[in-house]
Amino acid sequence: MGIQAVAVIGAGTMGAGIAQVCAQAGWDTRLFDAFPDGLAKGRGRIDAFWDKGIARGKTTDEQKEEWSGNLRSFTDMAEAVNGVDLVIEAVPEILDLKQQIFTQLDQLAPQNAVLGTNTSGLKISDIAGVTKRPEMVIGMHFFNPVPIMKLLELVRHEKISESTIEIARDVGAAMGKSCILVNDVPGFATSRLGVVLGNEAIRMLADGVASATDIDTAMRLGYKHPMGPLELSDLVGLDVRRDILNNLAEAFDDESYRPHPLLNQLVDAGDLGKKTGMGIYDWSSGEKIEREL
Ligand code: NAD
Repeated sequence: MGIQAVAVIGAGTMGAGIAQVCAQAGWDTRLFDAFPDGLAKGRGRIDAFWDKGIARGKTTDEQKEEWSGNLRSFTDMAEAVNGVDLVIEAVPEILDLKQQIFTQLDQLAPQNAVLGTNTSGLKISDIAGVTKRPEMVIGMHFFNPVPIMKLLELVRHEKISESTIEIARDVGAAMGKSCILVNDVPGFATSRLGVVLGNEAIRMLADGVASATDIDTAMRLGYKHPMGPLELSDLVGLDVRRDILNNLAEAFDDESYRPHPLLNQLVDAGDLGKKTGMGIYDWSSGEKIEREL
């Protein structure tokens, strides 16, 4: 099955990036968000990315025009998914919300459309199970920033069909991604390790082991990580990381996965990381600056 049209549900950090790579792949791309403000912000980020590419000589005006022509914004889900071959969901990491969205998608999207979820770590079978087409539901876990990160983690579950996996692999290839295939274990092969490292780094910061910058430098220079765990947590979004940790604690019935109190405190204060200008670091000036916590 060739992909012609794709709907992306949720225009946040990830949804906007996924819609961008779909538009760049040449597909009729529909970006949907329940909130007009979220939609406008997502679309604005895509334009800003392309404009930056033009300024750096990596993207041409013609490419931007062509890609923009492939991308439309919607606040009506039924319109967004009308006639699509693939839907990729990227709403917040809350199981009830994703189940609600998949129940709607199952009713509204064409019967032959594959439904992908960009969940960072929820069990895919819990999401697929609310639909009448579980064999066509797959985990499609992208990484942030989507247009740059090469990995696409595909997650299979008991009821998936091989053809759904093949379609998702083809989608990844057309986007220029390298795919890995993982079984349906919460946290998959990536998030489980990533959030544990980030949470421990926050605990070390709270315990006064070293400054945020020095903890990040330790992992960059000592372990060759391209980015330190605290900076990465700010980039991903502290709310996103907190939700993943809580989901893992519940899925594995293991309290050691719970977010550190400092992480909860920052999220409760609305300091969600780079996207709000304030997180573990202060990003309000556009630069990463250490702050008192
Ligand atoms: P985000 O908060 O930036 O964006 C979520 C978007 O969903 C917002 O625009 C919001 O308006 C919209 N939304 C909320 N309720 C909705 C609804 N009912 N219908 C439609 N849209 C709705 O979140 P994000 O960081 O983009 O994360 C989205 C998903 O991607 C989560 O499952 C997350 O775990 C996963 N993920 C995130 C990252 C990351 O680095 N941020 C990486 C990989 C996967």
